[in-house]
Amino acid sequence: MSDRRDTSHRVAVAECDGIGPEIVRSAVAVARRALNLLGADELVEWIDVPAGQRAIDDTGLALPPDSIAALESCEAVVLGPVDHATYPRHGDGRRQNPSGEIRKHFDLFANVRPAKSIPSIEAVATDADMVVVRENTEGFYSDRNMFRGYGEFRPTRDVALSMGVFTRTGVERVVRYAFELAAARRGVLTVVHKANVLPETTGMYLEAADRIAPEFPRVAVNDHHVDAMAALLVRRPASFDVIVTENLFGDILSDLTVQLTGSLGMAGSLNAGTDYAMAQAAHGSAPDIAGRDLANPCSLISSVTMLLRWLDGRAEGTAFAAAAAAIDAATQEALGQERTPDLGGTATTSSFTKVVLDRLSAHLPGRVS
Ligand code: NAD
Repeated sequence: MSDRRDTSHRVAVAECDGIGPEIVRSAVAVARRALNLLGADELVEWIDVPAGQRAIDDTGLALPPDSIAALESCEAVVLGPVDHATYPRHGDGRRQNPSGEIRKHFDLFANVRPAKSIPSIEAVATDADMVVVRENTEGFYSDRNMFRGYGEFRPTRDVALSMGVFTRTGVERVVRYAFELAAARRGVLTVVHKANVLPETTGMYLEAADRIAPEFPRVAVNDHHVDAMAALLVRRPASFDVIVTENLFGDILSDLTVQLTGSLGMAGSLNAGTDYAMAQAAHGSAPDIAGRDLANPCSLISSVTMLLRWLDGRAEGTAFAAAAAAIDAATQEALGQERTPDLGGTATTSSFTKVVLDRLSAHLPGRVS
């Protein structure tokens, strides 16, 4: 692990679409204030990168080559939600999706999505604390599971085919990531698959877990079919710790887990690779409330704290961990005081952000350089 104590970390910021500018500005302001209070302003250089509709207006592309080059000059990105369903179609009939392209370009193989009950938030599950680790680069996602070309085909008007890609390398690295996470948490790993009907593809997750388990003797492993898992999550959510699964199952199950513990507006997520990470809210661009100062910024604030902890893993001894802990604590306190409308409150994005900013100093132990 390199010691980057004296190095400034370049983090790209792409606001993107819908509520993106509102929540990205909120989350970055909170991170900057926390680092500022720790005397560590210089630790991060925040680089504005055009993506989404703003980039389309200027260049015709949602993620133009200059933006990709700017992302490559950084080690992480904070990405706002993209409204790619509204983007223009290109010659091959497809729309660009900056989120999928960044995941593929930087090989961000693990999409980590925590779901934790918070005392002040009314939720179906009041005592759950789990994390879905979703494979992010292959499976049935046609925009990223091919080197060249596209994983969905329509040979005739009435026939459509979808290609699922599962590689031993891709499956093993995400299962190993989940084992490491489980070992650092409560030590329980649940593997989700559909090996009764997709034994060669989703069954590979079971094979990988069997192979890796001896390296983690303190992690207890169990597994469930994805359909049964959906029911079990509703029936006994508190019994799950870390859940690992393929791309499509993980996309669906993680919306269920965050909704069980609160709201989609609370759902943080980190897309992690070996050398690059992307903080991204788990929800979409919420066009119905965009530009009205109504969005809940907690999802992206939480994603940014995950990113700060990821940076801490690469540069131990810096202010990152202290900043992340302070932001988490200040956000919890703010939620006890006010909430945005998705949580039944009347706060605006800006008023909620202000409460978080005001509470930060109480949680910072002093200056760390
Ligand atoms: P959505 O997540 O944008 O919205 C679903 C509902 O949740 C809406 O009622 C919205 O107002 C609410 N919501 C979402 N985030 C919120 C927040 N932070 N605060 C308060 N309320 C919030 O899903 P959708 O409407 O299906 O999709 C809209 C667009 O977003 C589509 O173009 C879709 O493709 C895109 N999308 C992008 C991403 C991404 O960028 N990662 C993820 C999912 C969907």
